[in-house]
Amino acid sequence: MEKIEHIGIAVKDLEVSNKLFASLFGKEHYKEEEVASEGVKTSFFKNGPNKIELLQATNAESPIAKFIEKKGEGVHHIAFAVSDIKAEIKRLKTAGFIVLNETPKKGADNKLVAFLHPKTTNGVLIELCQEIE
Ligand code: ZN
Repeated sequence: MEKIEHIGIAVKDLEVSNKLFASLFGKEHYKEEEVASEGVKTSFFKNGPNKIELLQATNAESPIAKFIEKKGEGVHHIAFAVSDIKAEIKRLKTAGFIVLNETPKKGADNKLVAFLHPKTTNGVLIELCQEIE
């Protein structure tokens, strides 16, 4: 695993939170993208070397809708960059982690992604992401 690629934050209203984070960072988001398969709309901010992903549910079945229902708005996941996501999935499974996506899927911002179950990572949802060449 390499650097933190981004931190994901679950929000109720992307438009409201876009304004909030633009005001916090002093600049606008650089991208908005809907990931229909996940039922989310995302917005990305870059602040120095750091990236923040805001996520809003687009339907009631979305994992983000369920997260907000249970825990409210807030930090949803931490994403780490990996250079070989398939090898990392294999390594982490062997080490005893529950990988939610045995086959990596296409995520937002041109990435292949896989998540680890928070049950095996001290309650933190971890995302692995590999840049799609
Ligand atoms: Zn993410």
